[in-house]
Amino acid sequence: MTETGISRRSLFRTAGAVAAVGAIGAGTAARAAGPSALDPTAVEPLRLARVWAVGRSQLAQLAGFDDTHVVHPDGAVEVLLWPGDLARLRATGLRFQVDVDDLVARDAALPRVPRVVAAQPGETSTGDYRVLEDYERDMRALVKRFPTKARLVELPHRTLEGRTVYGLEVCTDVGRRDGRPVFYQDGCHHAREWPAAEVPLMWAYDLLENSGKDARLQAILDHVRTIVVPVVNVDGFAYTRSLPPVETGEVGGVTNPLPPEAILLGGQGRYVRKNRRPLLGSDLGVGQGGAVAKPLPLDAVGVDPNRNYAYSWGDDEGGSSSDATSQTYRGTDPFSEQESKNVAGLLKSHQVLAMVTHHTSGDLLLWAWGDTRADAPDNALLEGFGRAMATYNGYVPQKSIDLYVTTGTTSDYAYGVLGSIGYTFEHAGSSFHPPYEDTVPAMYDRNREAFILLALHACLAPEQRPAARLTTAAKAELAKQGQKGQLTHGILSGRAVDRRGRPVTATLTLTKTFDTLLWAQGAGNPLGQRAYSETIAATMTTGADGRFAWHVNPSTRPIVAAAKKTESWLLTVTGPDGVGVSRRLVVARGQRVDLGSVVVG
Ligand SMILES: [Zn+2]
Repeated sequence: MTETGISRRSLFRTAGAVAAVGAIGAGTAARAAGPSALDPTAVEPLRLARVWAVGRSQLAQLAGFDDTHVVHPDGAVEVLLWPGDLARLRATGLRFQVDVDDLVARDAALPRVPRVVAAQPGETSTGDYRVLEDYERDMRALVKRFPTKARLVELPHRTLEGRTVYGLEVCTDVGRRDGRPVFYQDGCHHAREWPAAEVPLMWAYDLLENSGKDARLQAILDHVRTIVVPVVNVDGFAYTRSLPPVETGEVGGVTNPLPPEAILLGGQGRYVRKNRRPLLGSDLGVGQGGAVAKPLPLDAVGVDPNRNYAYSWGDDEGGSSSDATSQTYRGTDPFSEQESKNVAGLLKSHQVLAMVTHHTSGDLLLWAWGDTRADAPDNALLEGFGRAMATYNGYVPQKSIDLYVTTGTTSDYAYGVLGSIGYTFEHAGSSFHPPYEDTVPAMYDRNREAFILLALHACLAPEQRPAARLTTAAKAELAKQGQKGQLTHGILSGRAVDRRGRPVTATLTLTKTFDTLLWAQGAGNPLGQRAYSETIAATMTTGADGRFAWHVNPSTRPIVAAAKKTESWLLTVTGPDGVGVSRRLVVARGQRVDLGSVVVG
C-alpha cells in the first residue's frame, strides 16, 4: 500500500485493513488475545463532546472517559470519545452534546494563522513539532555548542520498547557537582501532548542562547542547575509522532514504516495518551477458548505514567483506574513503569527545589493536591507562585483537584515526597497538539516569564537574585500569600577540613528513608493503608577549599509537618581518604544551617 495520497474515507472502507486493529499493542496483546480482539466499532471517528455532570456521583460516571480539561463557561466538561465511548456515554444518562464529529478531520482543517510573536529560542526549523530523533539530536547539538554549560543526561531505565530516555542539564560549569539549587522540567508523560515536550527544551535553549542579553537568565544559568527531560514517555510519543498525517503520508519529508493499524484508523494513533505496555489476555477478559469480553479501541493499550507515582497511588474513586484499558490506568504497582521510575529516580537523587511537568490541554496551572481539597501545608507558597506565574501566561491557576481528582501524579509526588515546589502546566488551549507554527512559539513566549519567576524566587537565595523585575501584578499575587522574596528552601553551609584544620575536598550526601502511605481513603480498597518504602539520596562535592552551600528541600515532608512532627536528613561528609562523618539535621523551609568546620578524615 502506498502511504501517500490515501484518503481517510478509503481507509475506513478497507475492510480487510481493519483486521490489523486486532494487533493493538502488538506482540503480547495480539498473541494473547488473538484475532477475536478486533474492535468492530473501530471505524467510529474520534469525537469531542461536552457533558453536563454535577456532583460527585455524576462526575464519577465520567471518570472512565478521556477528559480534555476544557471546561465550558456553564460548567460542562469536554471529553474525547474513542470508538465505543458514544454508546457508553449514552448509557450513563448524562446530558451531553457532540461538538466535534471527527476530531482528526477537525485538526487537519485547523487554519494556519499568521504567527504573532518573533522567533523563539529553540524553535524547530521545519515549523512543525519535533519527532523523537530530533530531541536527542538537538540536545546533543547543544552539548557540542556549549560544552561547559550543557550535559546530556541518560536516564537509567530503558523503556519497554528498548529506548533510552534523555535529558539535558544546563548551568555554568555544568561539570561541577556542587550544591546549587536544582530546577526540573519535563514533558510528554502523555504521548499525544506534543507541545509539552517543546516547551522544556525551548527553556534550555533560552538559557544557553540568551543569558548574555538578560541578567535574570544569566543569574539562573550561573546559580541554578536546570534539568529538562522533554520526552518522558518516549515509546508513546514515538508512536504518535511516527504516524504520518493521513493526508500527506509523511512526517518532515520522511516516509515511515508505520504501525499499520494506526494509519488505518485515520490518524487516531496520534491521540493516544498512555505508554505502550501491551495488554495481556487477562486485561482483555479473555476466557476459555479465547473469547474477548469487550471490543477495544486504539487507546486501550498502555499505563498512564502520570498515575503511576508512589504518592497516594491506587484509588478507584476517579483519581485513577485499575482497569487496564482505561485512559487513567495506574499500572499494577506504584512505579511499575519505566517512565515514572526514571523521573522519580532523577528527583530523588537531586535536591529538586522547584519543578514543572508539562501537559496539554486547557491552559491551566495546577498545584497540590490532586486527591484532597485540603490545603497543602505550603499552600501559601504554592498558590503564591502559581497565581504570580499565571499573571504572565494567563492560565487558570488552581489546586489540581479543582480540575478533577487525581492520584499518583508527578507533581503531587514531587511536592508530597520531596517537598519540591511543584506544578503541572496544561498548555495549548483546547487542543492536545494544535498546528505548531501559530501556537508553540506564542505559548513559549507567554510562559518564559513564569519559569524565570519560579527559578529566581523558588530556587535562588534572595542575595543571589538580580534586581527584582517582577511586574506589579505578579508582586501583588506573591504579597497576598505573604511572600516578600524570602528564602523558600533550606541552605546547609560549612567547610570540610582535615584534623589539622586544612581544607579538603569532600563529598556530601543527604539521605532519608521513610514509608509513604498509598491511597487509604477509598472504601473497600483492598490495598488499605499499604506503605511504600522510599529512600532519597542526593550527593554534592565541595571545591578544593572545602566550602559548601547546599540548597536543599526541607527535611520534613508536608504530611508529616501537617501532623506537627518533624523528620531529619542524615548528612554524611566524606573526605578524600573515604572516611565520613554523619549527623542528623532538621532543616525547615527558609532555614540556613551553618555547620562551620566539619572535620573529616
Ligand atoms: Zn497530560
